[in-house]
Amino acid sequence: MKTIRTVADLRETLAPARRAGSSIGLVPTMGFFHEGHLALIDAARDACDVLVVSLFVNPSQFGPSEDLDAYPRDERRDADLAERHGVDVLFAPPVDEVYPDGFSTTVAVHGLTEVLDGHPARRGQGHFDGVTTVVTKLFNMVQPDRAWFGQKDAQQALVIRRLVRDLDIPVAIEVLPTVREADGLAMSSRNVYLSPDERERALGLSRALEAAEQEVAAGRLDARDVLAAARRELDARGVEPEYLELRSASDLSPAARVDGRTLLAVAARVGRARLIDNTVLGGTE
Ligand code: AMP
Repeated sequence: MKTIRTVADLRETLAPARRAGSSIGLVPTMGFFHEGHLALIDAARDACDVLVVSLFVNPSQFGPSEDLDAYPRDERRDADLAERHGVDVLFAPPVDEVYPDGFSTTVAVHGLTEVLDGHPARRGQGHFDGVTTVVTKLFNMVQPDRAWFGQKDAQQALVIRRLVRDLDIPVAIEVLPTVREADGLAMSSRNVYLSPDERERALGLSRALEAAEQEVAAGRLDARDVLAAARRELDARGVEPEYLELRSASDLSPAARVDGRTLLAVAARVGRARLIDNTVLGGTE
């Protein structure tokens, strides 16, 4: 495996594969790998000839009061895991390689980015502008045939699908299911922030989603019933959600009942960690 820091070196390294018609896959990450990242890497490894994993903690998607400086990093461990999982290129550029002096372009997807995490009172639309700008850059740098993302960040996956469609970026987007701990907690690099007590309380998120799934399985499809069932699980652990919302899984419009594929999304702060989770109700994920 080769670790690469510059776009020029990346282009030079990938050129022979591109000329030979090999398929190139990309898994974009912010590092500090867990089983969720590794599931994407393993799927991508099986599906393409040359696999690039990017490791970049993207400053532009963090708000001023967010955890950019504290975000967990361990490049040596990530490189070791990437190598063992068959990654060909670990692309880990410094910040000024991605955002050189005078950088002044933003790629913004409207319509999907004003709600849930993008709501002005939460991470804000600026968060998604940071994501779509860096992902567009990564697509231009790597020019992958396919790129893999996690359903854990359901809104992000929708935004990226829209970005690629709207800008005719020639990449196929693959979205894989959320990987969870044995007890249901969604894997996240931010789980390292949780104390043992907070780790217990954090289970409220996945339990809330399970309770909602049970409501739907019992035929209670009204948003009020589904949300109340979810809310009880959060309350039982003293978790106050930033949001707990039922929305269309295809365009994030509000849903008054589970009807077709409906996204139940939750975000909550537990101690220092801001956690998100979601499930798709009323359809297959
Ligand atoms: P991150 O490093 O947190 O930016 O995540 C990199 C990619 O891994 C994104 O596409 C995430 O959606 C995905 N991902 C993060 N956590 C999980 C998980 N628990 N299961 C599946 N994919 C995940």
